[in-house]
Amino acid sequence: MTIIEQAELERQQRYIGQIGQCMEAYRSETGFSRRYWIHTYGCQLNENDGEKLAGLLGEMGYLEAAGLREADLIILNTCSVREHADDRLFGNLGRLKNLRQEKPDLVIAVCGCMMKQPEHVARISRSFSFVDLVFGPQDIYRLPELLYHRLSDEKKQYLVGDEDTLVEGLPIHRARRFRALCSIMYGCNNFCTYCIVPYTRGRERSRQPGDILRELRELALSGYREVMLLGQNVNSYGQDFEETGGDIRDFSDLLEAAARENFYRIRFMTSHPKDISEKLLKVMAANPVIEPHLHLPLQSGSNRVLGQMNRQYTREQYLATVTRARQLIPNLAFSTDIIVGFPGETEEDFADTLDIMRQVRFASAFTFLYSKRTGTPAAEMPNPVDPAVMHERFDRLTALQDAHSLAYNRQSLGQTVEILVEGVSAKQDQVFSGRTGQNQLVNFTVADPALLPAEARSPDGRIDGSRLEGGLARVRVTDAKTFSLFGVLEAYRP
Ligand code: SF4
Repeated sequence: MTIIEQAELERQQRYIGQIGQCMEAYRSETGFSRRYWIHTYGCQLNENDGEKLAGLLGEMGYLEAAGLREADLIILNTCSVREHADDRLFGNLGRLKNLRQEKPDLVIAVCGCMMKQPEHVARISRSFSFVDLVFGPQDIYRLPELLYHRLSDEKKQYLVGDEDTLVEGLPIHRARRFRALCSIMYGCNNFCTYCIVPYTRGRERSRQPGDILRELRELALSGYREVMLLGQNVNSYGQDFEETGGDIRDFSDLLEAAARENFYRIRFMTSHPKDISEKLLKVMAANPVIEPHLHLPLQSGSNRVLGQMNRQYTREQYLATVTRARQLIPNLAFSTDIIVGFPGETEEDFADTLDIMRQVRFASAFTFLYSKRTGTPAAEMPNPVDPAVMHERFDRLTALQDAHSLAYNRQSLGQTVEILVEGVSAKQDQVFSGRTGQNQLVNFTVADPALLPAEARSPDGRIDGSRLEGGLARVRVTDAKTFSLFGVLEAYRP
């Protein structure tokens, strides 16, 4: 692992200063600012990387564009985990070609996990030669240097480093006003046979506890109500520390320290079932500020398939963890990830998955059809499952999960739940939304506007939902659907 030293950050800072001067000159001359547009694919770790890119660009004097067509710099921050990631990236790049022809000064960059796969970089170089910058997820801190050279009319800049880097102190422009993302570690050592992450994000490396707690303190002081601690496998936080003399030696210690900061809620993602400890569950049980929700990817209920996936736990161990967690935290909600159609999956294996779902009754699940990731061991495995069989199993699986999700949500009918308000419902006017500690989406209306602070009410009786964001609402649940609850506001606390 390479810790990026202060001297290197200062070197980048000089590029920031030089680009900033150019931006200022352009603004004086034209009256306009240069603008950027970042499109991030994939998980919250990638989203957090996108916030760092935005932070760096903000320091250089760029403003965020309202849309793609308004941008002078477009960054596609890619993900290689999700299905058909390549199709989406190359489809989008194809569309950008026309935009580049209309705006020859437009700078186009591609970064993120996919750039760690040489075949994708080669394809960009071959077929999308208008792409100016290419860099990997561990090279974000070098964006100022790359951009400076490109803007100085030098050739396009392709840089995908091999080192597993750890960088502190990058500026950040957070996308949300009340929920902050905080990456506590990077990379993964688990090598699940279907997953590309260990090859694109490198080996596990944990940030120092002091750096994380300083970031959390700043977030709490600047008004963030909720923080999500992120890592590919947060439960192995600290396992790479050489010295273990401090108070914070593992994820449980870190979570306990985070719970002492002034947040309404703390979430974390993602946990590996093999690493959930009794200590972690006890810390969750003892600290109500840590949400009673555990995302615990199952992937398969068959011991044979779990072995083929190199998941390093059995169905029995998974079930024992669920049972123990429910003993310690009775209101705990479980969500999961499940892959259907892993190579060689038989009907019997699939029945084991349905069986464990019936035993656990997940509140929600992300379900995926297996798709090959070039470069992973599973991509070379024999006996692919027939696509028609895979789809048929997938339909049965989602039908079962939908029934469980609906039954779970119906338990809240007639009850009052506490939610952190996220804003206005995308679909209906004067309907607001938020999430419970169990991560249920709740839409609600306000029958009595007097329950809200004056600044959220307009004279015509309408409610400004943006004024409610980040507040805690108590909502009586009147309807329950598979993916959401609906209710009426009973109380609100900013
Ligand atoms: S734990 Fe497995 S699935 Fe998760 S990131 Fe690591 S290798 Fe991929």
